[in-house]
Amino acid sequence: GSVIGILGGGQLGRMSALAAGRLGYKVHIFSPEKDGPAAQVSWKNTVADYTDLAALEAFAKAVDVVTFEFENIPAASAEILAKVKPTRPAPRVLHITQERLREKRFLEGIGVPVTAFREVTSAAELPAAVAALGTPSILKSASFGYDGKGQVRIEAGMDLDDAWKKMGGSIAILEGFIDFDCEISVIVARNPAGEIALYEPARNHHKHHILDTSTVPAGVPAKVSHAAEAIARQIAAEIDLIGLLAVEMFVTRDGKVLVNELAPRPHNSGHWSQDGAVTSQFEQHVRAVCGLTLGNPARHSDTVMTNLIGDEVETWPQLLSDPDVKLHLYGKAEARPGRKMGHWNRIRPKS
Ligand code: ATP
Ligand code: MG
Ligand code: MG
Repeated sequence: GSVIGILGGGQLGRMSALAAGRLGYKVHIFSPEKDGPAAQVSWKNTVADYTDLAALEAFAKAVDVVTFEFENIPAASAEILAKVKPTRPAPRVLHITQERLREKRFLEGIGVPVTAFREVTSAAELPAAVAALGTPSILKSASFGYDGKGQVRIEAGMDLDDAWKKMGGSIAILEGFIDFDCEISVIVARNPAGEIALYEPARNHHKHHILDTSTVPAGVPAKVSHAAEAIARQIAAEIDLIGLLAVEMFVTRDGKVLVNELAPRPHNSGHWSQDGAVTSQFEQHVRAVCGLTLGNPARHSDTVMTNLIGDEVETWPQLLSDPDVKLHLYGKAEARPGRKMGHWNRIRPKS
């Protein structure tokens, strides 16, 4: 059998590894963390830093294909991997999606609508950017943010030096605030033959800047879901994706679709597909990076996915007592506040 190498050791790697195992693959995880969620269910496990080029090279030699569950790998590291084995998605895809300014410019360049934005490289540049975009607006560090970390909402009259410090990064993007009707996301898969499979949009609801629920069907007009799917398909083709890409979008009150950000991997808002679709996003990830035919992404059940954050995980016995709930726990030892510990899908017959 073949071996899939996965960079990153968290829950996304765990669920990809479980899907890979069912298709007869062995999984080798590369992660700085020992015994993490992915390593627990994998065949082999390299514990090393993402900057350790020698360890990365040895890892690539030991596997048949390399993929990611975590996109913040240094460019030099991705290049080393790609020299040794097929690395999917390619280093260029990681490069674009790991920095918000680069990502927004790429999207603008292919004609995909995004929020209004300005590059801000120092506190001194912030007042002019705020003057251009107005308030409220959102200052985000250009790299490494997730779950709203490194973001500050700018309000009229705010101390901008203070906001710059709170943001905490060295290069930032200021985005015009979108008074959206709702947030949706589309997961798109593309294999080496250029075949594309799209999941229908999920409607995403956040609590304390962390995804709380994803719901399918999203309950948006057909015009909106068609626009969202066309955007995801276009991005996948133009970025030359091999693997999975999540496209987070805002739906404005007048029904326009704007892209918020991209993630070149399985995504929390696609977890509904484990129990609500013919093919889960994790199996689709494996199929795409291994060059197999893609599975049917169609929804067979109405599904609400809810995250278990921090000590919410303690409710798992009650959740299991509902026969229509499918529980997924990540095997994390410590339930720290804000930490994703698991999720559950409630399924209903398709409406
Ligand atoms: P994730 O955990 O999804 O990777 P993140 O930290 O990368 O999150 P974003 O997705 O950019 O951050 O923003 C987090 C949330 O903040 C969005 O889902 C949305 O609810 C809100 N938000 C972000 N940018 C804007 C904006 N320009 N206008 C209005 N709301 C926004
Ligand atoms: Mg993000
Ligand atoms: Mg986001």
